[in-house]
Amino acid sequence: NKFKTGMTKTRDNFTSKVNDLVARYRTVDEEFFEELEEILISADVGVQTVMELIEELEMEVKRRNIKDTEQVKEVISEKLVEIYYGGDEESIEELNLNEDGLSVVLIVGVNGVGKTTTIGKLAYQLKQEGKKVVLAAGDTFRAGAIEQLEVWGERTGVDVIKHSEGSDPAAVIYDGIQAAKSRGADVLLCDTAGRLQNKVNLMKELSKVKNVISREIEGAPHETLLVLDATTGQNAMAQAKTFKEATDVSGIVLTKLDGTARGGIVLAIRNEMGLPVKFVGLGEQMTDLQRFNAHQFVYGLFG
Ligand code: GDP
Repeated sequence: NKFKTGMTKTRDNFTSKVNDLVARYRTVDEEFFEELEEILISADVGVQTVMELIEELEMEVKRRNIKDTEQVKEVISEKLVEIYYGGDEESIEELNLNEDGLSVVLIVGVNGVGKTTTIGKLAYQLKQEGKKVVLAAGDTFRAGAIEQLEVWGERTGVDVIKHSEGSDPAAVIYDGIQAAKSRGADVLLCDTAGRLQNKVNLMKELSKVKNVISREIEGAPHETLLVLDATTGQNAMAQAKTFKEATDVSGIVLTKLDGTARGGIVLAIRNEMGLPVKFVGLGEQMTDLQRFNAHQFVYGLFG
């Protein structure tokens, strides 16, 4: 199970600490919750989310009259899942695609987070599902970005629409849409530039790209996925905030979850940003992208 092995570091960190805590405290008391709070914060669950969680746990433990710490462990899992879904339907991780016609997915995020890799993995996954995919090399800014996307295109057997470096990203994406339409593609995945230094430029570029897409296809882009690097912790949270202000982000791809012991960031992003985590990256290979499921995630941590 890729999900479980990819989460090894977080599992080792978080679960072993919780198990140790449960073993040391036979009965639940205030100190138990204080230590639990620290464990959750050290797993990057996020202070605000941890506070809510602890409060809910304390209430639930009281309500059910639970004394035994082993039983509290079960309640922790339940509450973690609840916090993630926040009362929403549990199907929010589905990729929102147009069933009859071309779907356009915009991929945004800062350089180095794994944007290109994610596009490649996504292309592979969608192709495995029987969909015809085209890529648009909309990151015309970063040196080498176009070539890197082409490598993924070759690897996955997917066409890449490109212009030269420094050209207008909106024009590339416009061409991408025309090519995808004429080739009868199901999904167009659009790369974008990831410079964050200038927020006004970022906003301008993304809104121009978005306008081109929505002018060509009603209701598009169908998804705007923000790619975040799980190993950057609270910095990823700050990026989420900036991008949310710059464009209509519809979901998160959290990469490099295999490289961190602090996978609790998933819960903070969902709870504090209100953004669903649609995919997680669990390695560098084509097959290392998984649809996110909070049940699997939480029970994988304890399982
Ligand atoms: P970009 O600048 O955002 O397009 O980032 P890249 O796609 O070039 O990725 C940057 C580095 O992160 C590369 O070395 C990737 O192989 C690596 N990477 C991307 N996703 C993952 C992941 O889920 N797990 C791990 N371990 N590495 C990843």
